[in-house]
Amino acid sequence: MSDIKLPEAFTKRMINFLGEEDFQKLVDALDKEQNTSIRLNPYKSFNPDWKGQKVLWSKYGYFLNERPSFTLDPLFHAGCYYVQEASSMFIEHVLEHIELPEDGVFLDLSAAPGGKSTLLSSFLGKNGFLVANEVIKSRANILKENIIKWGLGNTLVTQNDPEHFSGLEGFFDLVLVDAPCSGEGMFRKDPDARAEWSPEHVSLCALRQERIMDKAGGLVKGGGYLLYSTCTFNTEENEDMLKFICTEFAYEPVRIPIDPAWGIIETELEIEGNPYFGYRFYPHLLEGEGFFITILKRPKNATSLESKKAKDFKHPFIKSVGKQESKILIEQLGLPQESTFYSVQESCFWLNPSFQKVFEYLTLFLNIKYFGVELGKFNKNQFIPNHEWAVSTFEKKGFKNFELDKEQALSYLRKDDIMPDGLPEGWVLVTYLGIPLGWLKNLGNRVNNYYPKDWRIRKK
Ligand code: SAM
Repeated sequence: MSDIKLPEAFTKRMINFLGEEDFQKLVDALDKEQNTSIRLNPYKSFNPDWKGQKVLWSKYGYFLNERPSFTLDPLFHAGCYYVQEASSMFIEHVLEHIELPEDGVFLDLSAAPGGKSTLLSSFLGKNGFLVANEVIKSRANILKENIIKWGLGNTLVTQNDPEHFSGLEGFFDLVLVDAPCSGEGMFRKDPDARAEWSPEHVSLCALRQERIMDKAGGLVKGGGYLLYSTCTFNTEENEDMLKFICTEFAYEPVRIPIDPAWGIIETELEIEGNPYFGYRFYPHLLEGEGFFITILKRPKNATSLESKKAKDFKHPFIKSVGKQESKILIEQLGLPQESTFYSVQESCFWLNPSFQKVFEYLTLFLNIKYFGVELGKFNKNQFIPNHEWAVSTFEKKGFKNFELDKEQALSYLRKDDIMPDGLPEGWVLVTYLGIPLGWLKNLGNRVNNYYPKDWRIRKK
């Protein structure tokens, strides 16, 4: 139960909106403990014994019977699952009910810390490409870390203001804007949200959302989709924004089938004679936090922008990798036959060649934080592997594996000096329950722990 009372003006508005009885049910739900839920990474299969009831609208979402210490679970650090509240996982259900190309190019415009980006990345799998963008630098770093741990190699992480996308009108098959909002739906999960709330803050959020949507609305290609979501209840930031988008751009409504037993409320709004739909999630009606989403389709005849391929790719710090080195990466280190390699300060990166043109075009506009999979560096006759490669889902041919027990795995993640019995010499990929955690290098008389310093766990 939160010590901070619900703001009076919020109470008044919500009673007006829901009625006295339902509002009381909402208040009771907000005062109860939140159920923790996780979404599994379909590309890193494992079977945790602590997974409980399924999230009704998601294939990979589960509630937990109790909240374990995620920090002390090596599989959490290995990107086997993401801790995400259940309502947001509805996006998975949405993706399955709209017509998307197999090789889609998606944009998550306000992506940190990466809950919805990891969901989109899972959906796109090995055939699609995601741009995960976050405007705030420190948050973009967290996003990058989560994308690396998820490990699919199908994502470009950028740090840009929505304004910087203005050359990319009509470029994306799907744009998700999970907008910064007043967070009323988080009043249980994050009691500070109660303290920060005011009617003025709601209006400021709505203005900021208008500015974002004014840019985002144009980025979807003809036949593509725009998903707008918030974690707040008020109409100013939800249905009013839907109206705003439809006034600025010609979007068609999309209705998503839902099972009435799920407790999701579909709202209908008439805009220029057509019904448009929103989906509302209330904590007193379902297991999940407050959430709103609307789905829109850009008419087929809207302008679409194709990426143009420059004859020679030129970028201030992203370079192409030579034929000889590419051959070693494929033949000796096990990277896929179909690969494009780039280097940044001599470190090699893998990219799906199907998106080479898209990627090179995007580098003209965006501030790149990470892309594909960072593999490592050639150093004389050796290849020095990177952590990013270790936790990716890609093969690491030619390296020995060594399984750690839980205590050893936690010591490794604390970046302690560890010397497990029987560790082979040289570079070793250490695993826990078969899932890669990172690299150790056994030099005979000592062992170097290559877990990234900034990611190490401090909890004992
Ligand atoms: N989608 C994320 C997830 O599922 O993990 C959560 C996104 S959060 C609701 C909204 C994000 O928008 C924040 O990371 C915030 O930094 C970012 N943001 C703040 N101001 C913004 C702006 N003017 N334009 C775009 N994004 C902004």
